Amino acid sequence: MSAPGRPKRESSLGEEVAKRPEGRPFSAPGRPKRESSPGEEVAKRPEGRPFSAPGRPKRESSPGEEVAKRPEGRPFSAPGRPKRESSPGEEVAKRPEGRHVAPPLLELEGLGKTFQAHRGLFSNRGAGRVFAVDDVSLALAGGETLALVGESGSGKSTVARLALRLLPATAGTIRFRGQDITHWSDSRLRPLRRSMQMVFQDPFASLNPRMNVRQILEEPLIVHRLGSTAERAERVTEVLRQVNLAPHHATRYPHEFSGGQRQRLGIARALVLRPDLVICDEPVSALDVSIQAQIINLLQDLQRQLGLAYLFIAHDLAVVKHMADRVAVMYLGRLMEVAPTAQLFAHPGHPYTRMLLQAIPRPDPGYHIARQDTASELPSPTAPPPGCRFHTRCPHATEICREQIPAWQELAPGHTVACHHARNLPPYGSSGPTATLPPVAEQRLRLYRQRQQERSTASAD
Ligand code: ADP
Ligand code: MG
Repeated sequence: MSAPGRPKRESSLGEEVAKRPEGRPFSAPGRPKRESSPGEEVAKRPEGRPFSAPGRPKRESSPGEEVAKRPEGRPFSAPGRPKRESSPGEEVAKRPEGRHVAPPLLELEGLGKTFQAHRGLFSNRGAGRVFAVDDVSLALAGGETLALVGESGSGKSTVARLALRLLPATAGTIRFRGQDITHWSDSRLRPLRRSMQMVFQDPFASLNPRMNVRQILEEPLIVHRLGSTAERAERVTEVLRQVNLAPHHATRYPHEFSGGQRQRLGIARALVLRPDLVICDEPVSALDVSIQAQIINLLQDLQRQLGLAYLFIAHDLAVVKHMADRVAVMYLGRLMEVAPTAQLFAHPGHPYTRMLLQAIPRPDPGYHIARQDTASELPSPTAPPPGCRFHTRCPHATEICREQIPAWQELAPGHTVACHHARNLPPYGSSGPTATLPPVAEQRLRLYRQRQQERSTASAD
């Protein structure tokens, strides 16, 4: 589903023409050399200098190894994840005590966004402010995949657009490679735009139907005045190969592709400028399950090859289970829980996360019934509930939940939860309020299990 006011094409990500000498390198200034990146061969400039600009300092410490604990216990750093030894996009900052600590690639701190809601045609009903994003703090290390998960309307796309500075934030700070870019002008942002790209759910909306694949992929290079004609053609072929499309696809048009191929094209378009950060906004939500897996595998392969960091947005926890390093769960504009992926799936600390987990289809019909029992409508973001925003749907809500916004509590290293009762909830999977079934459902479940048992004993005979 496309978010209102979403940019139509990726070139609208401020890829204005940067005044650069013709034939400038593709690689961003100061990006690190990657040993494992295929196709990033260092081409010689006319004057004999390599394309990659003189390097950023080599990092000595891995990203996110230092858990920067905020006083209020908000999730801030990327604890314990680094897969790669060196991460792009991280300047080495010197700490007072002399240790080198890399800042995260992207940091969002206390981010907020309110929209003016439109009035109805004949009345003022619905007028007011939409509290789309409220006090969101997240950090993403170079090479990391952070999933942002929540139901439709929870503010995920708005966070993405704020992070890329496509929308002005109402509150908070956005840092990229340690630099506060919250108020940077468009011209100052221009060189950075190349390092931050986006993949959308519906590639049709981001690909100009009148352009063929070559033109689509070449456009960002032309806009940024990168490479000669021959070099651009080479880059287009290379990026097509990286997303497993054939060179002959270059002359085709978006409508000639299948959904999965079109999403490969959307990914190619995001990669052509060699970004460090790719925000994937529900990139597989519109695809068949079998194609979803292909696209996710492709994204993972590309991450390994190119050292990309992903902010991967999904409304479905199942999609991110095998690809995300960490998961941030969002509800009605606020973060509810942040945890390393395995930890989140094994020990979800927030009742909302538990509800999302129960929504994942399982062969056991009991879960299906429980889901119907607990799921209900999302309240209006123009009048979000006071206190904990989830309290109107929460089976554990008490008085305090209706009155006070919960503080962050750390349940395990890197696992933080914004719930008043986080430490007192029944362990996940035990029969707490969310697991109780209505009597009819209980009866059906008993019958089902009985039949399963009969079947298995029959087949054993
Ligand atoms: P998600 O991506 O999680 O589905 P969004 O970030 O698209 O959520 O939207 C969050 C809330 O902000 C929704 O209630 C949506 O209607 C509202 N919203 C998003 N963009 C705008 C806009 N340009 N004007 C007014 N409201 C908006
Ligand atoms: Mg969205």
